[in-house]
Amino acid sequence: MQHVNNSKGILIIFTDITELKSLQVKLEHLAYYDELTQIFNRRAFFQKCEQAFAEAKQASSPFTIILIDIDYFKKVNDTYGHNVGDQLIKHVVKVCQTQLKEGMMFARYGGEEFVLALEGSTGLDGEKEKLANQLCESIEAQPLMTTEGVISVTISSGVAEATIETEETLYQLLNRTDQALYLAKRKGRNQVCVYT
Ligand code: GH3
Ligand code: MG
Ligand code: MG
Repeated sequence: MQHVNNSKGILIIFTDITELKSLQVKLEHLAYYDELTQIFNRRAFFQKCEQAFAEAKQASSPFTIILIDIDYFKKVNDTYGHNVGDQLIKHVVKVCQTQLKEGMMFARYGGEEFVLALEGSTGLDGEKEKLANQLCESIEAQPLMTTEGVISVTISSGVAEATIETEETLYQLLNRTDQALYLAKRKGRNQVCVYT
């Protein structure tokens, strides 16, 4: 700034953007996390998974999807009400999380459906199926305690591994996983089916 007497000065203006920044963080959280369970939502899943899937393809490394669906969930809603249904969804997520390792993409895929994307392999035979079975077993072993009583819960699961050689898309892989899940339901629920 130029003063009248020709001496120079500087004007510095500061703006507090704390509120703006925290709003931005809040909005990002709302956009990518499921409100009920606080795990990734479907949008976040597809965004992260598309990239991981493309990278796995490029590196010809294994990529597996596991779809999880709570069995007879509608019955829980109908018997105990929507609020207890919500509690059960949160409970299933918590129990699953105890079995998962860092780096595994776990998201709420839909109402009472969850998706797990696994990159790479430990080289052990049937490791992905084993994890899906572990999830099934731990959910069955841990019913939800509510004021209305103990609510037993089971899940069904479909597993499919990407076929790296073919030009399969993520959507086609998810479709195969869904077929495996459908089979697990048809075979009586509370079990894992692998797409072969
Ligand atoms: P199946 O064993 O074949 O999976 O039967 P199901 O009853 O679990 O499946 P269905 O698809 O018939 O019912 C799912 C129900 O989940 C229907 C819907 O009202 C309920 N639902 C979806 N999202 C939520 C939610 O966020 N909270 C609650 N409480 N219920 C939900
Ligand atoms: Mg369902
Ligand atoms: Mg269900």
